[in-house]
Amino acid sequence: MVPLMPESMESRNSSPLSAPANALRGVGPDRTAQLARLGIQTVRDLLFHRPRRYEDRRNFRKIGELQLGELAAARGQIVALGLKRYAKGTKSVFEFILADGTGRLHCRWWNLPYMQQYFQQGDDVLVYGKVHTLRPRTIDHPETEVVVQNEENSIHLNRIVPIYPLTEGLSQRWLRFLISRTLQQLGGQIMERWPSLAIADLPTRSQAVQMLHFPSDLIEIDRARMRLALDELIELQLSIQWRRKTLQAKAQGWPCAGNNRLIKPFLARLGFSLTGAQTKVLREIRQDMAATQPMRRLLQGDVGSGKTVVAACSALMALESGFNVALMAPTEILAEQHYRNFARWCEPLGIQVDLRTGSRKTSTHDPQALNLGTDSSGPLAIGHLPSPTANGASPIAPRPSPILTVGTHALIEESFAQERLGLVIIDEQHKFGVAQRERLVRKGRYPHLLVMTATPIPRTLGLTLYGDLDISVIDEFPPGRTPVKTFVRGADHLPKVWEFVRTKLAEGCQAYVVYPRVEDSGSGEVKAVTKEWETLRKTLAPHRVGLLHGRLRAEEKEKVMAAFRAGTLHVLLATSLIEVGVDVPNAALLVVENAEQFGLAQLHQLRGRIGRGAHESFCILVGSPTTPEAEHRLKILAETTDGFRIAEADLKLRGPGDLLGQQQSGVPPLLFADLKEDLPLVERARGLAKRLIEGRSIVLNSF
Ligand code: ADP
Ligand code: MG
Repeated sequence: MVPLMPESMESRNSSPLSAPANALRGVGPDRTAQLARLGIQTVRDLLFHRPRRYEDRRNFRKIGELQLGELAAARGQIVALGLKRYAKGTKSVFEFILADGTGRLHCRWWNLPYMQQYFQQGDDVLVYGKVHTLRPRTIDHPETEVVVQNEENSIHLNRIVPIYPLTEGLSQRWLRFLISRTLQQLGGQIMERWPSLAIADLPTRSQAVQMLHFPSDLIEIDRARMRLALDELIELQLSIQWRRKTLQAKAQGWPCAGNNRLIKPFLARLGFSLTGAQTKVLREIRQDMAATQPMRRLLQGDVGSGKTVVAACSALMALESGFNVALMAPTEILAEQHYRNFARWCEPLGIQVDLRTGSRKTSTHDPQALNLGTDSSGPLAIGHLPSPTANGASPIAPRPSPILTVGTHALIEESFAQERLGLVIIDEQHKFGVAQRERLVRKGRYPHLLVMTATPIPRTLGLTLYGDLDISVIDEFPPGRTPVKTFVRGADHLPKVWEFVRTKLAEGCQAYVVYPRVEDSGSGEVKAVTKEWETLRKTLAPHRVGLLHGRLRAEEKEKVMAAFRAGTLHVLLATSLIEVGVDVPNAALLVVENAEQFGLAQLHQLRGRIGRGAHESFCILVGSPTTPEAEHRLKILAETTDGFRIAEADLKLRGPGDLLGQQQSGVPPLLFADLKEDLPLVERARGLAKRLIEGRSIVLNSF
């Protein structure tokens, strides 16, 4: 993290909290190594070691009342114990029986004979674990602590006690004692990180750490966590807002608002008029692009809401202003589709469109442009002169006409150093990481940036991942859409599903059938999907079925897509490759096989391929969910088409790291904050960080 806490005493190296853990009494080389395994290097790390749970040792359950399956803490005396060996001495079970006057509890350890050295008849023992039978009442492999004589008033008993993550060789009691003593000695050194912020409704940071370890009631645990989470989130928000502020201070954008010269004829020929939401968003974009600071805008709109046209208008603004534009898509299929659309739109306007993907480089100003063969004849000249006969040697060469380049990540990986790059558009942003988006943008001299995503980002994540971007939302669908009807069917219903598909095909619809395999899972999968293809062709004959998967060569993919678009193929059997962006309005049917293997967001994206045209659309999720979670996923999809609800549910099910990829998300691991639950805290942290940044120009300048 960037050093954002100049106010913070705590972060100064001179603070005793920065001392290494072995500076503490009783921490020798062995203990130091053990603590290091828990990530504890310094005194501060020790004080912020978060308990993994708490045990309320003020009142123990009576052993006689412990229920089956219950996770329970109990206390009693050892009335019997012993080690049994069996299977010719190769296996063992150690067992003791605990009594508290209300019943007996058997505690067993399998194949851990050394456990017997820790316990003796008559010991007063605390145990914690799951009651796994009632006759006799038994817990296997419980957590234990032996009560030492006369410690009724200690940190270990008669209170809410912290239970820490441990490592081999460390005991709860030792660590608890070390933390308690260190807190007593040094807890007062824990300073507020931002003393100028008044956070009156929560404990101070120092109080919070005390409560974290030794709460006097259960509510304190929560309040302590909230306070420490808030500090974490403020720091995160500071770094986000900082990044943005520095960019604003340093970077110059090109004036790219355009003059409507190209947009007017484009809209006139489009065949539909923009929705209110599209117009509103374009107004926001135009305002940004007119400014001297580069735009950083996220365009969020559910699948099918019409982001491409917004991208096109934004591109035309920059082109009108004489600047080049780059449009990046996550898959070749999508890049090709964009290329085709933009070429169709831009050709009549005299604007050159280039395509650059891993396997293809072509240009509308290339005589071979519409020939689908690969062209590996060297790097594409960027910044062409308008006429193929003119060349840079001419002393009166006019300024080259601006061009639009469409591509995949190859745009980044190859040397994409374009002069006068006014605008970069990234489609399906959720498929790219933050780092990638930054890399592309740095190639040019701060072009305006428009990132588009169909994955509605839950607000906690949005504020965290896209906190440095302004957000525009398309909250309205183009007119005439009927919501997709979704059904979940067991695999045994497949014959009926195909029957239904045949009926719909006969009515003139087209269909996607999605085969449930990840893309690059090897040639075995290609064989399997090819076989499935043959079966499906027979099942659905005489309707024509095409096959699309990631292992096909780019031009083969494009050929299949072209045939499907043209309607000569009626059904497209595809892998999840078609997940993003593909737009064939006549396709009104989607069958997903083994739907339980897909994630929620992914299924929502897939479903977004249909419901784009006049036909009533049907999505049939075929699957036999084996886990409650998978069943829940399919149920949500059947219930709602609201992308936002789906994203929220996805976040709850999978967690933020998984949803966006923790590494590429650029969010540091959070010890106390939980992006799944902490929206109020995130929002609060954001406001507080803003106040800090606005109030502290000195800090900014030193960055
Ligand atoms: P997405 O937001 O998922 O990228 P697209 O840009 O692919 O959506 O648009 C989905 C479909 O809606 C396309 O076929 C597009 O031509 C059509 N469309 C977009 N805007 C409008 C509009 N204002 N009126 C009618 N159809 C529209
Ligand atoms: Mg799209």
